[in-house]
Amino acid sequence: MDAQVADFAPLDESADADAIIARIDAAGIVGMGGGRYPSARKLREARAADVRFAIGNGMASEPGASADTTLLGQHFEAVVAGLEIVGRCLNGAGLALAVPPGSKLPAPAIEVGVPFAGDEQRLAAHFATRTAPNAGQPSDYGVAVFNVATLFAIFEAVTLGRALRRRIVSVGETDQWLAIGTPLAELPIAAAGELRVNGPLTGRPARANAVVEASTFSVGPARAPADPCIRCGWCAPACPESLVAEHLHDAFEANAEAAAVFDCIECGACTAVCPSGIDLVNEFRALKEQTRHRAALRERADAARARSDARSERLARQARQRQAQRAARLSSNHSW
Ligand code: SF4
Ligand code: SF4
Repeated sequence: MDAQVADFAPLDESADADAIIARIDAAGIVGMGGGRYPSARKLREARAADVRFAIGNGMASEPGASADTTLLGQHFEAVVAGLEIVGRCLNGAGLALAVPPGSKLPAPAIEVGVPFAGDEQRLAAHFATRTAPNAGQPSDYGVAVFNVATLFAIFEAVTLGRALRRRIVSVGETDQWLAIGTPLAELPIAAAGELRVNGPLTGRPARANAVVEASTFSVGPARAPADPCIRCGWCAPACPESLVAEHLHDAFEANAEAAAVFDCIECGACTAVCPSGIDLVNEFRALKEQTRHRAALRERADAARARSDARSERLARQARQRQAQRAARLSSNHSW
């Protein structure tokens, strides 16, 4: 990793939460586990909600995406320090670091757990309640979850005064530090063909002009073309939200709407088990857009119809009034 000059004066231990969060904002830090949510906003919202537990998420849930694990191996203390900075912002929140099974890391002063491969919601539920995970947002459990790369960036911004300018990315089989803004087309892996960003399960096909973004944790080859759905039913039991992915797939194929798709948390469990290799998560993202778009069109059509009905009603009322006035004139006694 190249040395980076400081962009700001480092903050010391006396910096309060407002100063730290302002620094995180100025450094341009966003959720680097794919979420892209501004970290300063997340911290302000967590403070407003009196969140008292923060989790560092280093679970690397996408196959082949080992950047977070490599980062933990290279900069474990800095990641823990980043988590402790988050704890200072959250009034001394309880802290935990979720790492993959088999991780050999130095013992920190905070809890390091190996719960299971899973998404943010279930990590939050696991650490907050120590019970079987179920649905809900981390804030429902009084928990804020930060990807380990985000925590490293927070450490660098606050302690070393560095803005977010590069990140570690799994590129094919290797993990590399890349400048944010690097065109993916310039990576050697691009010579092999189409690319996919952020994993085979929940990632997306890379656009032609795509660059490394703060949230780009992996770049790999595009998925192989899918086969047709064979109605095997494997996707249904895999879904943590009890959705039948096969039915959502049918709705997508039929260019239809499906309200149930909004319960999909895009975890990729159905994609992982599908023997036909269907990119279900991206289908469901498109289905959400499609369903929202149709609902918006319907709303606009309803509003236009309501305006038209109101106009017709007004014109009819005016015609009735004119008719009544005319009848009144005709029936009145004239004095000429
Ligand atoms: S991605 Fe698939 S498994 Fe995950 S919630 Fe959505 S439908 Fe269910
Ligand atoms: S797992 Fe794939 S092939 Fe099997 S029913 Fe679901 S979508 Fe169809």
